[in-house]
Amino acid sequence: MRILVVEDDPGIAGQLVRALKDANYAVDQANDGEEGHFLGDTEPYDAVVLDLGLPVIDGITVLERWRSDGRTMPVLILTARDRWREKVAGFDAGADDYVAKPFQMEELLARLRALIRRAAGHASAVIECGPLAIDTRAARVSLNGDPVKLTGHEYKLIVYLAHEKGRVVSRTELTEHIYDQDFDRDSNTIEVFVGRLRRKLGNGVIITERGLGYRLADAEHQPDDSA
Ligand code: CA
Repeated sequence: MRILVVEDDPGIAGQLVRALKDANYAVDQANDGEEGHFLGDTEPYDAVVLDLGLPVIDGITVLERWRSDGRTMPVLILTARDRWREKVAGFDAGADDYVAKPFQMEELLARLRALIRRAAGHASAVIECGPLAIDTRAARVSLNGDPVKLTGHEYKLIVYLAHEKGRVVSRTELTEHIYDQDFDRDSNTIEVFVGRLRRKLGNGVIITERGLGYRLADAEHQPDDSA
């Protein structure tokens, strides 16, 4: 899952980026409304954290432009406390949620998880797919109830497939959602991660659709652990 942070306060931006990376998100950052608008208009984010008081172009205008251009990613706005008109303007411009500054990072992370899972059509924080369960609150994966230890990139890949379960996801799409903008991307590494995940989860959990990409096995499909 890839997040855009648009925030001009370097202290808050730094804290946000660190906390999001620790929570296994790929993160891009913009310091003003113009750069933020451009990134949100051109890159496929799973969610955006958008400050409203921004240099060059204000946050409300950025959000209105995204929405009028048909960009539908979930957007959580950062508002000043006691500025209820700002919240109303934010929701009317197309925001999905807000937190007021100063905020607790845990609350912001929980709200982002909820926005991302609802955008993907999941009501629960634990996404299940057959024997596989992914607890998005703790970034924990289990298979038939047994915990499976994954690296950051392995987790990023499986959690994206799990949010998109039932759909075939191309290697390009996976690359766009598990790496940030500055990462030296190579879609061949996706195959490497899938290979490692299969060794840890069994061969039947991630299905290759030749020429199209990958999907998680249907819930009724029993993974073949013998290989
Ligand atoms: Ca600001």
